[in-house]
Amino acid sequence: MLGTWVVGIDLGGTNLKVGLVDAGGAIAAIQTCPTEAQKGPDHFINIVDQLVDALCVQAKVSRSASILGAGLGTPGPLDFRKGIILKAANLPGWVNFPLRDRMAGKLRVPVVIENDANAAAYGEFIGQRPRASQPSMVLLTLGTGVGAGVIIDGKVLHGHFDNAGELGHMIVVPNGLPCPCGQRGCLEAYASAGAIARRFEQAVLAGESSSVPSGSDAKAISIGAHQGDALCRRIWDEACLYLAIACINIQHAFNPEVILLGGGMAEAGEFLLACVRSHFDANRWHLHDDFPRIELARLGSNAGIIGAAALAWEKLASASS
Ligand SMILES: [Zn+2]
Repeated sequence: MLGTWVVGIDLGGTNLKVGLVDAGGAIAAIQTCPTEAQKGPDHFINIVDQLVDALCVQAKVSRSASILGAGLGTPGPLDFRKGIILKAANLPGWVNFPLRDRMAGKLRVPVVIENDANAAAYGEFIGQRPRASQPSMVLLTLGTGVGAGVIIDGKVLHGHFDNAGELGHMIVVPNGLPCPCGQRGCLEAYASAGAIARRFEQAVLAGESSSVPSGSDAKAISIGAHQGDALCRRIWDEACLYLAIACINIQHAFNPEVILLGGGMAEAGEFLLACVRSHFDANRWHLHDDFPRIELARLGSNAGIIGAAALAWEKLASASS
């Protein structure tokens, strides 16, 4: 296959996904495998190197002639200037590791690294059409926790400490449920697929009745809520209320054109959107009509590699200009 490509890499705590992505954001080939984080970052780099070989075979491209760079979305916190992963909850032992430069040395191309949630947000930003109409956008990924990325005027927001956009840890309930981060009442303690399943289980164990069986996941609970089960409906509605509160806070902090909801909880689709939008409308201010559209994310689990690759393309463009 003719053309040039960059490698988009999405490093998750469980799985690693690597793809060849062109300058327009189209994916030519994808490989996935277990991360095996416990084997350490050098093992990870070797695996990525092997996967790039496999991708080139799969897409019938010449690695030396066609692969121009790589973008890596990784759990953080990170030091972007130095390209260092400081530590990550899902990657035990990966502390102060110079991930960018070591990866670049192995792959023999320039590498950019980005927080994984930011990379996914940037992927969704790139994937929105027409792109120019949405220079500011926020993505909330409602999975095990709440991942988030903020795009302001077309750029990923990093902040002074490189850690901006940790919106899952916005406090929405003072003295609320504990969060593994050490705070109480974080958004992700109420409004993630993991939180919904956990809260449902605790309510059932406390003796509340439901037509939905114990141990159900957020998807089953959303269906139960849709069908009128009282317990499911209460937990789902509370999650949507706190999401709406978060969206209003995001509106005031960042004034984005759109807030996208992705991840497992967003599989409920219009049922989620309708509930969040109605709480948003009931709680929003009346001073100005600067309301973001609240919509579903589109790219699913490929957002991370598309976003990481797009950042690598931009780095290449700025280096050559
Ligand atoms: Zn938290």
